[in-house]
Amino acid sequence: MTKHILILNTGGTLSSKKSERGLVPELGKDDILKDLEWVARDCRIDYEEMYSLDSANIVPEDWKQIALRIGDVYNDYDGIVIIHGTDTMAYTASMLTWMLCNIPIPVVLTGSQLSIMDPVADAMENCRLAIHMAAAGHPGVFVAFNRKIILGCRASKVRTMSFDAFESINYPYIATVDSRGLRVAEDKIPPIGGKFRVNVNYSDQVFLLKLFPGLRPDIFEALYEMGYQGVVIEAFGLGGLPSRERDLIQAIAAVIEKGMLVLVGTQCRYDGSDMSVYETGRKGLACGVLQMREMTTEAAVTKLMWALGQTTDRDRIEEILSSRRP
Ligand code: ASP
Repeated sequence: MTKHILILNTGGTLSSKKSERGLVPELGKDDILKDLEWVARDCRIDYEEMYSLDSANIVPEDWKQIALRIGDVYNDYDGIVIIHGTDTMAYTASMLTWMLCNIPIPVVLTGSQLSIMDPVADAMENCRLAIHMAAAGHPGVFVAFNRKIILGCRASKVRTMSFDAFESINYPYIATVDSRGLRVAEDKIPPIGGKFRVNVNYSDQVFLLKLFPGLRPDIFEALYEMGYQGVVIEAFGLGGLPSRERDLIQAIAAVIEKGMLVLVGTQCRYDGSDMSVYETGRKGLACGVLQMREMTTEAAVTKLMWALGQTTDRDRIEEILSSRRP
């Protein structure tokens, strides 16, 4: 049976053309639909242009609008492909994972490192993969890039120029393409855990902080004064926090005491955090920080934003953060 796929375009390099202002995502339906139809082969596609944005300009309100649009139309389609700039695609993919909890169809984000107008671009290949993954029927939110499918909340952009721009962090690839075709590791796709509901509530009062030796501890009080409800910290190694000269532990304890949520992970790309190993991690745990463990930074920031949009109850937030699906 012919699969019916919706393509939602939000912009990015894939739909960009050169201008005096630099590359701008200004290609429209007429410029790219022919190419998309060609790679879609036996799938029937509908095309909708939501935005024409460089993804550096995507804001949380856009995540909400994308999720709401999908909630409105998902019943009419076998799968949905979102064309998106690569720079913040991992944030959008992560947030859609939380907002579209238990989505019964595939939602596949893709983009490219070169415009679809360029004869040697990766655009057609990535769209081909995204459309056929969307038609394959595995429910969930995914990123399709360079012949690999990544679980949405595990994707991270790791290269600025190579076509191999995304990796699956601390989790196996969901699918790869080789001479055997599209091979999907079905057991790696988290099963649907309940009824589908679109839940777009979030808090934008979340801050992301990367530690460096010598960071002034008073930043935490300043963030609290600015109204931030949560901070994600990319700490050292397994999750180490300094307490010798410039004592972050005391500063973090003070804002946790006032109700702020502090989520600590690592600035290393792979393997995640485990704050139980070193004293510098245990001191953080003792003052009440929560652990990111194997989450990507993109997943941690968006999950904390989403969790704070549901509740301000610390125990409930801890529960949400540690669940694979909210
Ligand atoms: N600056 C572009 C964007 O994120 C990069 C890309 O799409 O590859 O929109």
